[in-house]
Amino acid sequence: MYLRLAKRILMESDKRLLWKLFYNMGLKGSRSVQLHKRRMKKGEYFPPFLYVSIINSCNLRCQGCWVDVAHKQQRIEPEAFHRLVNESKAEGNVFFGIVGGEPFMHSGLLDMLAEHPDCYFQVFTNGHFITDEVAKRLRKLGNVTPLISVEGNEIVSDERRGRAGVYDKTIDGIQNCLNNKIFTGVCTSLCQTNIDDLLQESWVDRLIEMGVMYTWFHVYRPMGPNSSPDLCLTPEQQLRARKFVVEMRAKKPIIIVDAYFDGEGGALCPAATGITHHINPWGDVEPCPIIQFSTDSIHEEGRTIKEKINGSAFLREFRELAADTTRGCIVLERPDLLANLVEKHGAKDVTARKTALPELKAMTVRTSQYNPGSEVPEKSWAYRIAKRFFFNDFNVYKGKDHSKASAPAMIQRGETIAANGSSSGQTSTLVELETGSLNSQ
Ligand code: SF4
Repeated sequence: MYLRLAKRILMESDKRLLWKLFYNMGLKGSRSVQLHKRRMKKGEYFPPFLYVSIINSCNLRCQGCWVDVAHKQQRIEPEAFHRLVNESKAEGNVFFGIVGGEPFMHSGLLDMLAEHPDCYFQVFTNGHFITDEVAKRLRKLGNVTPLISVEGNEIVSDERRGRAGVYDKTIDGIQNCLNNKIFTGVCTSLCQTNIDDLLQESWVDRLIEMGVMYTWFHVYRPMGPNSSPDLCLTPEQQLRARKFVVEMRAKKPIIIVDAYFDGEGGALCPAATGITHHINPWGDVEPCPIIQFSTDSIHEEGRTIKEKINGSAFLREFRELAADTTRGCIVLERPDLLANLVEKHGAKDVTARKTALPELKAMTVRTSQYNPGSEVPEKSWAYRIAKRFFFNDFNVYKGKDHSKASAPAMIQRGETIAANGSSSGQTSTLVELETGSLNSQ
């Protein structure tokens, strides 16, 4: 399998692009994680992987999206982008996730990325703007990997993404990248309507046949003004997804990315471990893309991004609270505690709609990737080793007791709390549903 993967990577991608990937992302990216670990030992935090939403606009209207895509366009302009990247480079960073909205709707995107040939960028996109000409430019740049989202088969995808023809245009975008031998990924947000089609060996095989080099299965999170809790996976389905990823990693010649588990299958939150934080199109620094609250901005003069993130009491207490509460996602599991933290720090609602706090307060306890007793360790030695050195909890959960405040613990006790503070000893329908599935192997 490893030989087949190596052969695919060598034969199907442009060699110059592979060198950039290996040197910028592989070697220098690994060093940036080691620097992060060293900083943590000194009690300092600056994430080696920053995610930057450079624009809020998008051509699609996907179900459950929490970005204010229909509001007046807001962008990170090139000058602010270059300052951010240069200040991050000074701390040893080289990798940046470029998010939106739809990043390719930012007219300056490719020129902005071209300014930093010593960095590596992963662009999260629906692929609709990747024409053959754009793909040729991406190939020329060499320091970009597009991660193109496919949300299901044609019918499901078009339904989830708001109109007919979305799927076909996305596949065209993928094909344009592959025709130009770009190292290309496909991601999917798993939910009730696509899990049976996409969490399948045949889907992974199809990606391999197409020439896709890596894939990433996210799990749908019900956030924002139009969240769809009915799309959420049950704990049983989340466990199924984890087992599938572990199986496929050991079997198929394609890289499978995930952000929520260490090599032993222990759950983690990348914002709690400090490996990543997020900057929104207004320049506000957020713990992660779905937590739309901030006390710090990249546009504030006089301090570097490292000083802002390291000096932010809100971000520091967020990491501590998240790590103290659960190994999973604090937003889903304990929105009440997060709402308290936001109010304590007077963190601004940094959405355009200005309803993020009521939305958070309307959420109830829900399970996330943390399912104690059901850890699924990696079967692939390569992932095990890579995670041991470069992607794990960095000891932020050491000595923490998650048997009280985490969602699994509360659900076992039959408790539920709405984030507006109202609590109940009575088990809600949601909790009943989830209790039955917790720990199921
Ligand atoms: S808080 Fe939740 S959504 Fe945000 S990084 Fe952590 S696990 Fe992911």
